[in-house]
Parts: sequence; structure tokens; C-alpha cells
Amino acid sequence: MRTILITLSFFLLTAVASLSAEERPTVLRAAGMVDVLEGRSIRDAVVVIENGRIAAAGNAADVDVPEGADVVDLGDRWLVPGLMNMHVHLGLALPGLMAAQHAGENKAQLVLRMADVARESLLSGVTTVRLPGDRRHADLALREAIERGTLPGPRIISSGQGVGITGGHGSSLEFRNDGPYELRKATRYQIRAGAEWIKISISGGIATPVGGIGEPLMTRDEIEAVVDIANRHGIKVTAHSGSAEATRVAVEAGISGVEHGYFLDRDVLRLMRERGVWYVPTIVVSQPATFDFFERIGSPDWYMERVYEVGQDHWRALEMAVEEGVLIALGSDQHPHEPNDGTTATIREAEYYVEAGMTSLQALQAATIQSARMLDKEDEIGSLSPGKYADIVAVEGNPIDDISALRTLGFVMKGGKVYRNDWE
Ligand SMILES: [Zn+2]
Repeated sequence: MRTILITLSFFLLTAVASLSAEERPTVLRAAGMVDVLEGRSIRDAVVVIENGRIAAAGNAADVDVPEGADVVDLGDRWLVPGLMNMHVHLGLALPGLMAAQHAGENKAQLVLRMADVARESLLSGVTTVRLPGDRRHADLALREAIERGTLPGPRIISSGQGVGITGGHGSSLEFRNDGPYELRKATRYQIRAGAEWIKISISGGIATPVGGIGEPLMTRDEIEAVVDIANRHGIKVTAHSGSAEATRVAVEAGISGVEHGYFLDRDVLRLMRERGVWYVPTIVVSQPATFDFFERIGSPDWYMERVYEVGQDHWRALEMAVEEGVLIALGSDQHPHEPNDGTTATIREAEYYVEAGMTSLQALQAATIQSARMLDKEDEIGSLSPGKYADIVAVEGNPIDDISALRTLGFVMKGGKVYRNDWE
């Protein structure tokens, strides 16, 4: 009996000890925080984090700081929800030097390269990414490893492999899926593999040398077949599209998102707004700030001609989308941390939104709560609200006053764990 009691109390003691270490709250103090839900700044901010989630957040006078908490004092910095980038390819290999470098890459090399990109993305302040088409389902394996906590990276929401047609965007010289029967099969296959969205390519694109960027290459019956199967699984469909006509057909067929939208016109943007269809602009892929990047990766002439072809119309489409009040979620189609114009592709993308007519608050919302809403995850992420995951970054200055404050990002927390603190 005595032995049992001793053993029991030993177990209890160790249980209590490990509990307190694991569940000890963390407290962030900072000069202010941004409430992206209400669109306001809160000065003298305190955020309490317990078990990876936000327990309380607000002005220091309104928040009880629990005893024994680990306090991280960020001084005169501002707290902002972790950034979200809704158009990322972890296995990106664009034509030119970049593709040549990764030619013949085997699956093991691919997974390691993607894990590296995921880690760098997180360290750049991006705590959630949506992957609209990645390679060989390596992204799904990586998603599991990150969820288990064995690898550092953002939360991943993936479409598995993109669903496309022979000769369409993203295709090489192989047969893909043609006609509604094959598209149904391809959609089902991605869902079975673990895709949480389906990504289709309905027009040509910059990175594939054939197929007009503004042409509706996928047919109506093909698009309808994909949407039908996805709906049966409660899964949304987003479409790579440069074409106003293809977009109109796809919106009528029931898609939930449009990527790039190089040649969208006002009529189709209005239709998107009416139907609540999301627009993920990826504006950096066609604008001058990114030309250094194209040079760095040795983009071939035909590629740059396609970039120049869409540049002005793409910009105009974004301006009109802002004017028309289309739902916009931020996506870069470059690696989230890719150097761009003295900052990262994600932050440059947000700055372009302001140049195209958004307020700094709206651009920040596109990179946080709006992205969360697009993913139907606004109860879990996207703002500094009690109950949500503690995905938090810190910057110098208030990004509602000037979105470029994001350029000074130097602190990254995801799920209550600090991954970066430049000011320690
Ligand atoms: Zn893309």
C-alpha cells in the first residue's frame, strides 16, 4: 500500500510539474496592437497566451496578467496578427535558371527544399499559407510534419496538385485531364490525397509558353464537373485565370476564388462581388518591383514578354477590384519571404494594394482576417482575439498608419511559440 502511495504521489508530482512548464502563460507587452476586426489601434497593449492560444488581449489597464507568466517585452513595437499568404508554391521552380537548378530533382530533394521554404516563410512573419497547386503531394507530407510540431513552418492549407487540361497552364508535354469525366477523376484524386481546396487552371498563364493568358482554355462542362465533385465533398474551387470570359463562366459554375485575374474587366469583377467570390491578385508577378527577381532567376525572353503583356491590365484589374469592393485576400505567387524591393514579396504585395487604392488597414486585413475568412478559419486565426491561435508578429510603428511599417518586422510567434525575436 505504502509503495503504491509513494508511486502515486510521484506520478502526481511529475504530472503537475510538466503541466506547469507546458501551460505557463506567456505575456506579450508592446506599445500597441492592431485590432483588424474593428479596424482600430489599441495603445499600451498586453496579450496573454495560454496553451498556444490568445487568452486575453487589449489595453494593459483591461487585461489581467496571470502570475508566474513568461513576459516578453517588445518595448515600442506594435503587435499585428501573423501574416497570411494565400498563393504560395513551396516547390516553385520558374522557367530559367531556377528550373534548371532543380531539373532532375528527386522527391527527397524536393521535400527538403520545400521544408526550407516553409521555415523561411514562417521566419518572415507568414504564419499561414494556402498552396494552390504544389508538387508530388510533398506539401501534404510537410503539412503533417508542421502540424505535429516536428518542423517549423506556417499553417498549410493545400490544394494538392493543380487540376489542369492538356496544353493548359502548368502543363508540360504530357496528357492531362480532358473532358468532364477525366476532370471528375482528377478532382476526386486530389481530394483523396488530402486537398482542402481544388485549384483549376481555366486560362493560359505566364509561366507556360502555350495558351493565351486571356483565353478561356477550359470548357464550361469541364469547370462544372470539377465544381460539382468538389461541392459533394464540401470543398471550394479556386481558378487560375487571366481571362474575363473564363472567369465569368467559372463564377457562374460556382467557383469560390480567382487567382491573378490579369485581364478581368469591370463586369466580371462586379459579378464576383455579387457572388462573394474571392480575388487573390498576386500583383507582384507582373509589376516592376519584381523585375530584379526575374533577372536573378534568369527568366527567359518569352517569359518576360508574357510578364510585360499582362502588366498594365493586371494593375488596372486590381484597381477596379478595389473600387468595386471585391473580396480580396493577399497572395504573392512568389515565396512569401522572397526578397522584393527591399522587403519580402508578401509585404511588397500588401504595399501594392495600397498603391492601387486600398487603405493601409484594408491591405493589412487582406493579409490577415480577410484571408482567414476566405479559408473559413476566422474562428481560429486572422486577428488578435481571445480563443484564436497566438499567431502574432511585431513591427516598428503602426501599420494602419503606414503599411510599410511591416518592413520592420522582427518578431514571429506561431501557436504561442516564439520563432524569431530580433530585439532580444
Ligand atoms: Zn501560382
